[in-house]
Amino acid sequence: MTRESPFGEARLPVAVLGATGAVGQAFVRLLAKHPWFELIEVAASERSAGKSYAEATTWIGSEPIPEAIANLTVQPCTPASIRAPVVFSALDAATAADAEPSFAKSDRIVLTNARNYRMEPDVPLVIAEVNPDHLDVIAAQRKRRGWSGAIVANGNCAAIVGAMALAPIQQRFGIRRVFVVTMQAVSGAGYPGVASLDILGNVIPYIKDEEPKLEEEFCKFLGLRESDHIQSAPMVVSAHTNRVPVEHGHTLCMSVELNRKGDVAEVEAHLANWRGAPEAVRLPSSPERPLLLTKDPDRPQPRRDVDTGRGMTVTVGRVRRDPILDVRLVALGHNVIRGAAGASVLNAELMASTGRIPKP
Ligand code: NAP
Repeated sequence: MTRESPFGEARLPVAVLGATGAVGQAFVRLLAKHPWFELIEVAASERSAGKSYAEATTWIGSEPIPEAIANLTVQPCTPASIRAPVVFSALDAATAADAEPSFAKSDRIVLTNARNYRMEPDVPLVIAEVNPDHLDVIAAQRKRRGWSGAIVANGNCAAIVGAMALAPIQQRFGIRRVFVVTMQAVSGAGYPGVASLDILGNVIPYIKDEEPKLEEEFCKFLGLRESDHIQSAPMVVSAHTNRVPVEHGHTLCMSVELNRKGDVAEVEAHLANWRGAPEAVRLPSSPERPLLLTKDPDRPQPRRDVDTGRGMTVTVGRVRRDPILDVRLVALGHNVIRGAAGASVLNAELMASTGRIPKP
């Protein structure tokens, strides 16, 4: 059973910045009938501002645009145009750079998917089930930057999937080194994304700026909260990232060197039993299991496993001995849901349920 709303009968008004894009649309779908939050505003570029949401958006969902949202007028991405105290940002990095701090200065909590502030030591980079305590650095962020609001970041879509599979291993054994190769879906590049003639029947062994994100964000997700900053875990990560002709779902093949030696069965058992931080359980977007271990030799696969747990479960399989490092495994997660909009909504639910978002 889902926890009771911290806001009682009323729902908390929220807005989505970048609401017309691929991640923005996922926010709209997830928030349209949210039990705790009410989506009252959508914002995008000057090209879209002033139009109705339906008119401004090339809708890529299989269900129609939720009725209550279709007729909202798209606002510009400025704090003066938005009333909601909590804003979900699906802005591209160029726009997020100035827009997000302007909202944080104006008393808003910004849950961002853009890369700009993820690696700032006073910005929590949060996966609700993995490192909810990192939210405590918000106090230092406010003090240092003079903000009354805050920025809370979501990771890169592949980094979230990988870090969720690594979290139980780090917690139990400690991790020294990770070697990761990704196969990333086209929806990870936004809409319209990669040209069909480039990706159909093809693999592109390069995603601009992606590899350093995995190498840094794994360490921050699995790092420690100090009094006023996050100290990244001292592990070394080597990443190869590839774009593949899959619609949704990033797959990661990882080899891991452990600090404390454990055999495959022990690692598997720990992955199977992991439920994540108790603070993240029974929130409206929590999946029944954040990680699902499959023993099928040919799983996980994007087509079969991407929607597990309404897109919020990461499926892990093929756990086996690694002849170079210690263990290897495959992890798969929905890049737009678990890797972006769904993870941000879960982070907001976590903040609300732990008293970090005041009642309206
Ligand atoms: P997208 O489809 O290209 O959408 C970009 C959004 O930003 C659109 O709503 C667009 O509005 C708006 N925008 C562009 N320029 C703007 C401006 N100057 N002022 C205000 N709004 C502007 O991108 P996406 O894939 O949804 O990604 C959004 C963010 O999430 C990016 O930072 C991306 O790196 C990150 N992310 C994406 C994924 C994924 O799987 N796709 C996963 C994790 C993180 P218009 O329609 O008006 O142009």
